[in-house]
Amino acid sequence: MSTLEIKGLVASVAGQQILNGIDLTVRSGEVHAIMGPNGAGKSTLSAVIMGKPGYTVHAGQVLLDGVDLLTLPAWQRAQAGMHLVMQYPSEVPGVGLTDMLAEAYAARGRSVEGLADSVADEAERIHFPVALLDRSLNVDLSGGEKKRNETLQLALLQPKFAILDELDSGLDIDALRDCSRRVEDATNESGPNGGLGVIAITHYNRLLEELHPDQVHILVKGRIVESGGPELADRLEIEGYEAFAGADAAAPAAPKKPSLDDLFAL
Ligand code: ADP
Ligand code: MG
Repeated sequence: MSTLEIKGLVASVAGQQILNGIDLTVRSGEVHAIMGPNGAGKSTLSAVIMGKPGYTVHAGQVLLDGVDLLTLPAWQRAQAGMHLVMQYPSEVPGVGLTDMLAEAYAARGRSVEGLADSVADEAERIHFPVALLDRSLNVDLSGGEKKRNETLQLALLQPKFAILDELDSGLDIDALRDCSRRVEDATNESGPNGGLGVIAITHYNRLLEELHPDQVHILVKGRIVESGGPELADRLEIEGYEAFAGADAAAPAAPKKPSLDDLFAL
């Protein structure tokens, strides 16, 4: 059983403060959905947790079983058990899927014996065309194929926690069902670390109907303004984000005091 604890996270990018005090705890096997309007800071949150360059953390911690990930380079965060399914998966010409997975296995001290078979089995399970396995990573794949490919990697690497940044964007209904069911299965499989813990960033209830979130959080202007059960996503569908925008002002997290820096922020 593992715990991912985000505490008081304040971060900026390009001189602009985007995350204004995020607190969130996810345990093995749990699914937490994060919903919020465009520009709220959802992808920024995933970038900061994973260690994407260009983001500055001003306060807070991201603890994986007590170890502060923010002190580690991105590759060590992955090695520690974090995984990001990107909103827009990168194409990596010249690097094959199995080669990449073999490197990742080796970095985790796992044997690569039988890896090609595992990849083929997993591809079949998620309906990723086996003929495409020899392509360079994500090169010339359709949107749906890319997300199936990303989900396949997630399933094989068996991280402790995965952040899905709009797994559902660019997916047709079948691909959405296959990918989200595979993730849902991983949350229920008790591997060496217990079930996968998930932070699922999404705009749509459709994904959540498959993923069955334990909690839903609404992120507005870099703050979680409301948390609740799956019914919160239904409420959002009816009321829209506007109903929650007002909560932003009342949110107690990380009140921002004016400082000298603000004078120079522009
Ligand atoms: P969301 O994923 O919730 O739609 P993002 O986290 O992508 O929102 O973006 C939040 C804000 O941060 C936006 O105003 C966006 O333009 C800005 N932002 C994010 N990443 C960068 C970056 N690398 N450089 C400049 N601005 C960025
Ligand atoms: Mg985003």
